[in-house]
Amino acid sequence: MTSLGAWELPEELRMVRETVRRFMENDVKPAEDQVPHDAYELPESLFRPLSDKARTLGLWGYRFPKQYGGGGLNLLGQAVLAEEAAKCRMGINIPACGAFGLDVPSPIFRGSQQQIERYAIPAIQAGKRVYIAISEPSGGSDPARAIRLKAVRRGNSYVLNGQKMWIGAAASAEWGLVFARTDPGAGRGGISCFIVDKNVKGLTMRPIPVIRSLSPYEMFFDNVEVPEENRLGEEGQGFALCDKFVVESRIPFSAGCIGVAKAALRIATEWAKTRETFNSKLADKQAIQWMLADSEMELRAARLLVWQAAWKCDLGQDAKIDSSIAKVAATETASRVVDRAIQIMGGLGVSKELPLERWYRELRVRRISEGPSEVHRMVVARHILRSGND
Ligand SMILES: Cc1cc2nc3c(=O)[nH]c(=O)nc-3n(C[C@H](O)[C@H](O)[C@H](O)COP(=O)(O)OP(=O)(O)OC[C@H]3O[C@@H](n4cnc5c(N)ncnc54)[C@H](O)[C@@H]3O)c2cc1C
Repeated sequence: MTSLGAWELPEELRMVRETVRRFMENDVKPAEDQVPHDAYELPESLFRPLSDKARTLGLWGYRFPKQYGGGGLNLLGQAVLAEEAAKCRMGINIPACGAFGLDVPSPIFRGSQQQIERYAIPAIQAGKRVYIAISEPSGGSDPARAIRLKAVRRGNSYVLNGQKMWIGAAASAEWGLVFARTDPGAGRGGISCFIVDKNVKGLTMRPIPVIRSLSPYEMFFDNVEVPEENRLGEEGQGFALCDKFVVESRIPFSAGCIGVAKAALRIATEWAKTRETFNSKLADKQAIQWMLADSEMELRAARLLVWQAAWKCDLGQDAKIDSSIAKVAATETASRVVDRAIQIMGGLGVSKELPLERWYRELRVRRISEGPSEVHRMVVARHILRSGND
């Protein structure tokens, strides 16, 4: 038996990672330096050359299935690339400034061929974000119980009435996936998923200002009519369609957090090597060295947890617990590391001269969205109480 290669990334993936690293350094960052600190997109003149180059490099839509025009990369590959693509100022929410295309929620690929052709493929080609609307004012942590948005069948349509809350990209997306209750008495099995077009009659929105500059939206459905052909999957199958999606989407989400934290640690490390206080460099002081060392150790551990969850998904194993563990480890570690990086930088750390304060604010959201840390801990605790620990 040999352990050779047991932990090393495949050669092919290391090469793609190098390509993305170079692209981020040489192309993305210089373009991003020309837009304001809190910008969430590049003007077309800066964006177009980036996306053209990404297409040439084969990186456009790397997350999506090959048969629909994506790169078909497995989850381990997605984790590795998401980490690198996050290493720019807008990288947590807009990886590589959108140069690889933005997120299209994977449940759409479980829809009919007609739905995929009409909605998924144009979204992949355009590289635009699509929203996914689950949370409501009644709560986001426990959506199976909290969803109140009603969808009532009328002829060949459904009529939607109610609200959604905290929905990212709701105003800019051409369409989104909306989860609504079709059977009030059926609990989790009473929720269905609908594809809702932009500008549909009866749908209004308002932005909710939050700690980061990118606002999510509150959505109001007032007799919004959705044709039956826009129901994704069977009636009552809304959550079943998403089971795989929620587990898998946490992997690039978590890897992105590690990417910005790595970038923050690099900034702080370089600074510590040159900044002097009390007659010596910051890097010579044990208090600073320990912050750097703890950050490196914690990030390596969190990254392995993310990769482990990805491996299990790629092997077709149940990764529900692993992806919860990875999500908590990555988001909490990244928050601590960026906080330490700010501390090492002193006043500069909280200034808008550097990306750190922006990452700090954006990472704070990440411990709540995609399931708050407490809910993931609950999932893990229930598992070990039921089945023991591995
Ligand atoms: C910026 C932003 C963007 C978002 N984007 C989207 C989106 O695109 N689509 C979407 O559907 N949703 C989105 N969300 C919603 C997000 O998923 C919810 O905010 C999250 O699930 C928590 O729901 P809640 O805010 O209703 O808090 P609640 O469910 O009321 O929970 C409040 C707090 O209680 C604690 N808690 C909850 N349950 C437990 C438990 N079992 N044990 C211990 N403590 C617990 C947690 O600390 C939690 O943060 C977004 C949120 C934000 C802030």
